Amino acid sequence: MDFPKRRPRTVEIQPEMENLEKLYFTNISMYRLPPMSEVSIQEFEEMVLDRLRLLRILEHSTLKEFKPYSNEWRDFVLTELNVAGLKGYVRLIQGASGQKESVLQARRRDYISHFLLRLAYCRSQDLRRWFVTRETELFRLKFMHLSPDGVSEFLKVHDLKYNEMTAKEKDYFKASIASCTFSGSVASVENGKYFKVPFASVPDLVTTGRCYLFRGVAFVSANDIVSIVSTDFKKILEDGLQALTKIISEVDNDERVYHIIKNLHKSYIGRDYATGAAGSVSLHQIDDLSKKSFPLCMRIMHEHLRSTHTMKHDGRLQYGLFLKAIGLSLEDALRFWQEEFTRLIPVDAFQKKYRYNIRYNYGKEGKYKDFSAYGCRKIIDTFPTPPQVHGCPFRNLKEARLRDKLLAYGVSRAHAEEITGIAKIGNFQEACKRYFEISHDVQLALSFTHPNKYFEESQVVIRNRKRDKSEPVKIKTESERLLDDDAKLWEDPSNDPDVKLPDPLMTQTQDPAQITMDWENAF
Ligand code: SF4
Repeated sequence: MDFPKRRPRTVEIQPEMENLEKLYFTNISMYRLPPMSEVSIQEFEEMVLDRLRLLRILEHSTLKEFKPYSNEWRDFVLTELNVAGLKGYVRLIQGASGQKESVLQARRRDYISHFLLRLAYCRSQDLRRWFVTRETELFRLKFMHLSPDGVSEFLKVHDLKYNEMTAKEKDYFKASIASCTFSGSVASVENGKYFKVPFASVPDLVTTGRCYLFRGVAFVSANDIVSIVSTDFKKILEDGLQALTKIISEVDNDERVYHIIKNLHKSYIGRDYATGAAGSVSLHQIDDLSKKSFPLCMRIMHEHLRSTHTMKHDGRLQYGLFLKAIGLSLEDALRFWQEEFTRLIPVDAFQKKYRYNIRYNYGKEGKYKDFSAYGCRKIIDTFPTPPQVHGCPFRNLKEARLRDKLLAYGVSRAHAEEITGIAKIGNFQEACKRYFEISHDVQLALSFTHPNKYFEESQVVIRNRKRDKSEPVKIKTESERLLDDDAKLWEDPSNDPDVKLPDPLMTQTQDPAQITMDWENAF
């Protein structure tokens, strides 16, 4: 296989960094002004799905029996975000400071993705309400990590002018204020900062008795200022969503954006492909499935294994975990690899050298962890060197080699040119999506973020075609899918003898490579 040499990863980031520092100078934003940025369609999709994943985690956490905004609630959210791989948001929530590129990029994605989701969630009162609730939770979660100095800095940066109590006022009311505090300490009132706000702007503090009221004015400590700020935040957000409803039809004229965001609120946000339904795919099916339903990365690896009877460690990991997640049992996996490898080496050598690793992937050795199959991002970021064949072919294969491969797999010359053209400009997942569309004769809304998702969607298309050849392809919507529990995902009600797999989201779209959002007109 023909892979280019490893490319250096250093890039000139200084000018862009300076720009990011100016644009995104704080972790917590009031999102007053829409961003003025160019966003590739790939990043657009990644950003909206990541933020949606984040908001769903917040929703899920709030439904648990934690006290709202308690430390337990916060710890649960952070754990879930870490598990979901949303490390950028974890950094922002934990108050990462400094001007490191990772922090600046996290702020940038946070800012832009917020506005992208506004496009999806301004469309009905229910959607607006859900979005405002989740975004406010996120806002407060970030605010929880601010120190008193951080709060003052935030108020200054965002030009929020709340009236601070004078020393004389505080002295007059200190006993009354202290009676509303947990400690009841007058000394802590004397040493703290207090603000005067209309009582209606802090309903949660009023109902829980955590502030002293005097003639319609609430005296609020700096620690509780989040209640006031989040009320302002909500107002800004509600007004922004309301204003957007008036011009959303103009935004919808851009079909590329429209097709991504129109069903976003019921979108699939990914699952962890640690295990498939073991045994739902058997050994004898793999050759056929590799031609019909494997993404290019896995098809090439399968072909390589069958023809050379060997595969390097990283390839065995990438391909082996993929096979596990589509449902190949451990027993079949052991047979599969052994049958190939023992064409070149004795059975004893295979048992000694490879059996342990295969069992390890299935959580039967070593750490006994059920390892997840690799997602596209991880695969794309690997740089195999010959004779390794793992990685993403849309990234790693030279243009001519990729074109030949596509032609060999039955793609027409015109389509092969089109796909290689998309890959050439760096839209690897978009090229993969186009390959799927052409080879399955369907259109998709989103590009793939996981090879196993590709496989599932392919199986759904094939299954639907088998069901009724005379009707157009019927695909379960995401909202229907979300009603399925995990176990049900791996059942196949059609009793298809071939494979038992879940139904993924699929909708229709067209595909251009780059979106340049006209933000000014959009908001
Ligand atoms: S985009 Fe993902 S699924 Fe497609 S070939 Fe690359 S790594 Fe595989």
